[in-house]
Amino acid sequence: MEFDHLLIRYGEMALKGKNRKKFIIQLQENIQQKLKGRFPEAKVTRTQGRMFVLLNGHDPEPIIETCKNVFGIQSLSLAVKVENEVEAIKDAALYALQNGENVRTFKVSVKRIAKDFPVRSQEMNQVLGGHLLSNTESYTVDVHRPDLEINVEIRLEATYITSTVIPGLGGLPVGTSGKSLLLLSGGIDSPVAGYLAMKRGVQLEAVHFHSPPFTSERAKQKVLDLAQQLTAYGRSIKVHIVPFTKLQQEIFREMPDSYAMTIMRRIMLRVSEQICRDKSILSMTTGENLGQVASQTMESMNTINEVTNYPIIRPLVTMDKQEIIEISEQIGIYETSILPYEDCCTIFVPKSPKTRPRRDKVNAFEAKKDFSELIAEAVEGTETVKMTDEQKAASAFDELL
Ligand code: ATP
Ligand code: MG
Repeated sequence: MEFDHLLIRYGEMALKGKNRKKFIIQLQENIQQKLKGRFPEAKVTRTQGRMFVLLNGHDPEPIIETCKNVFGIQSLSLAVKVENEVEAIKDAALYALQNGENVRTFKVSVKRIAKDFPVRSQEMNQVLGGHLLSNTESYTVDVHRPDLEINVEIRLEATYITSTVIPGLGGLPVGTSGKSLLLLSGGIDSPVAGYLAMKRGVQLEAVHFHSPPFTSERAKQKVLDLAQQLTAYGRSIKVHIVPFTKLQQEIFREMPDSYAMTIMRRIMLRVSEQICRDKSILSMTTGENLGQVASQTMESMNTINEVTNYPIIRPLVTMDKQEIIEISEQIGIYETSILPYEDCCTIFVPKSPKTRPRRDKVNAFEAKKDFSELIAEAVEGTETVKMTDEQKAASAFDELL
């Protein structure tokens, strides 16, 4: 006997009708996709309300670690699978108890989904509790705060015995909520924004505005590394690198200094919207955060947002910097995010940017200069790099070492 399955619990309660079906199919596909390369024998199956990974001889630990990063999973446990027979279930429960570490007290919880199973849940609890006590010496039952809870799910096709519950990330499986274009800088915020969008089931592509030679190859590589690290939580991410030098130079040459930043942001959105159109992407996601920096005021958001009516997802808008940093650390991208780099927005810094830019003013300035050709040229010159989970992470580190 062994723990040769992973039992996966997902929060289906909040889902209804068609959404529920889509959620389940996508979750199964995403788990299988993640395991495919490294664990070729692992198989993902599902029954009513549960999903399973059949380990087929693979070491469970790395598979658990991989599944812990898949959105849509509430929790998971190693499981023993046996037939729906009282004796077999007794043996498996004993096995689970004896495999627990530092366990002195336990509790058995039976769930009988197969109503044709002859013993009712309550009675089965007692049968199993009695069996465990009479076949061991050092354990006692504690129904309130047991060291180990042995869960027995008697399902239609088989019975699964699990003990330790490992929490998952929750959220929705990536791919169930459509696509968004993440405006990805090399800072701390935008990758966290991307992660949170993915957590709601969003599949990402990313756009990065790059201004060589003012921003280096290394800065670009850092952005690619960040995108690569995000793929641990979903699928591959296409990063569109937009050559932004000419546009930025024109903006800073032709537009008043105090409005240059605002106009630059508006042009970033125009380019991004064009990419969304070309790729059938229905929204954009940014790391904007209200009040964090002078450019992120309500007036600024209002004036910048004027140029597009695409929805902009701003997962960080209400968060404190500390909360954002905590997520960044938890998801393992903080180290890369704080590597030094030059951003196109920090290279061209106006001396006194308007913190309360106005729509009427910015429109008057922009009327004097037609940027559309340069925008088309930038879109035309965009280079796309596909980042995948299998690629080696964090090459920006290597260069620094
Ligand atoms: P971040 O930490 O993500 O860089 P920030 O706090 O520095 O954000 P801003 O510089 O005001 O804030 O940028 C706001 C948002 O604009 C970023 O979160 C990102 O989504 C987008 N952005 C900024 N610079 C770029 C860039 N070079 N390429 C793509 N998107 C960018
Ligand atoms: Mg930044």
